[in-house]
Amino acid sequence: MAKKEKKSLEFFTDWKYAPALESTDHIRLNKQYDLFINGKFVKPNSDKYYDTINPATEEKIARIADANAKDVDTAVKAAKTAYDKTWSKMPAKERAKYIFRIARLIQEKARELSVIETMNGGKAIRESRDIDIPLAANHFFYYAGWADKLEYAFPNRHPKSLGVAGQIIPWNFPLLMAAWKIAPALATGNTVVLKPAETTPLTCLKLAEIIQESGLPDGVVNIVTGFGPTGAAIVNHPLVNKVAFTGSTTVGKWIQKSIAGTDKKLTLELGGKAANIIFEDAPIDQAVEGIVNGIFFNQGHVCCAGSRLFVQESVADEVIHKLKNRLETLIVGDPMDKNTDIGAINSKMQLNKINEYIKIGLNDGADMYQSQCSIPKKGFFVKPTLFLNTSQSHRISQEEIFGPVLAIQTFRTIEEVIEKANNIPYGLSAGVWTDKGSRIFNMTQKLRAGVVWANTYNKFDPTSPFGGYKESGFGREGGLHGLMPYLKF
Ligand code: ADP
Repeated sequence: MAKKEKKSLEFFTDWKYAPALESTDHIRLNKQYDLFINGKFVKPNSDKYYDTINPATEEKIARIADANAKDVDTAVKAAKTAYDKTWSKMPAKERAKYIFRIARLIQEKARELSVIETMNGGKAIRESRDIDIPLAANHFFYYAGWADKLEYAFPNRHPKSLGVAGQIIPWNFPLLMAAWKIAPALATGNTVVLKPAETTPLTCLKLAEIIQESGLPDGVVNIVTGFGPTGAAIVNHPLVNKVAFTGSTTVGKWIQKSIAGTDKKLTLELGGKAANIIFEDAPIDQAVEGIVNGIFFNQGHVCCAGSRLFVQESVADEVIHKLKNRLETLIVGDPMDKNTDIGAINSKMQLNKINEYIKIGLNDGADMYQSQCSIPKKGFFVKPTLFLNTSQSHRISQEEIFGPVLAIQTFRTIEEVIEKANNIPYGLSAGVWTDKGSRIFNMTQKLRAGVVWANTYNKFDPTSPFGGYKESGFGREGGLHGLMPYLKF
């Protein structure tokens, strides 16, 4: 067996692909981006700008405006005026046409958006091209369909819009998170002030251009760039009626505290530490692929990443052997290469955090296995990493790392694995791999997670609601449920 393992590892590490770089010739980027307020790009009152970089090369891409509280005030007032004078008065079926047009324009510009997403965020082009951008367009298509059917979605409840939605998003799915936030807000008749994450503003600013091109009335969507204080100014603005936040649990808690006592509505989509659970009767090869998809693709920069693996003891050796083999075939490197599986970590800060957790895992006594691949010298990269023989009390099994690091435990009984999977502050998602449908239904009842995937992982669809339990937040995005946080009854 040992000999066979060695042979198969050698076989896989011999694989080489010729470079297959995606072209960047067709993209249009400005050297400087201002704030998108009231349908126009305007200079920030703060007069401050910062550089946004490519995390794979550490090179500067553009200068981005850093909005202050005065800028946020101008944006919120523009959104309020647009709500009062135009958007709330427009027939729902007319609103739908604009949302539909935005979806079409995203589709038309998909290639440019994918390349920019990869340049600014570090994710492999395959991910932005095949997942992020098509899903973003699909969210707009889906919610365009709901705009004039709210009375059917909520019969006899006479749903009404709220007013101005303040939306703050993270860096892991920049355009997709903007779509998750903006599409349902517009479909329900609200206007928007959105802040992208400081490290990944570019596709949101391209979306601002698309919004201009779509002819959406001025002020219905405003995009302000900046850091934490810009987000805080949105949250605290008295004319904001609803706050939608995706990001860290720490900031989520702070937001909840700061709007306590106001009548602002809130949805929070926060951290996660999902359990991917493999039973002995599972299709092992598919499960291994599901684990890899769950934690290594997109550099583990996914709130619902399957960052904990529970394998039933009887198949643990086989699963771990196959997983190590698969790890050796993963291509880590230039995200613009179409063969790359694992691109760049989004920022230096995040890279340091991941490396810190790898040290913590080693110090806590877990066994580490890292791919033997080489990683580029420049840019922010980390090798895909397994921690074997971890226990519940290890920090790498409890805390969100947000990187390609998998903590593995074994289990014997179904009761044991449910207990362990749930014994965590988070509750965003989980995965179950088994041949038995009845076991899947049993597990979905007992796992305290907002999403449970069965014999697959990280699959998204605009029609399906997404959101968490416990410290993973509350409220749902996607599907009919995703309309509710933007309505009053
Ligand atoms: P992450 O760890 O994913 O970067 P953060 O919660 O720090 O998560 O960031 C998510 C988003 O929240 C970003 O757009 C960030 O600028 C914003 N943000 C950070 N601090 C605050 C704050 N105090 N109030 C509002 N938004 C904030």
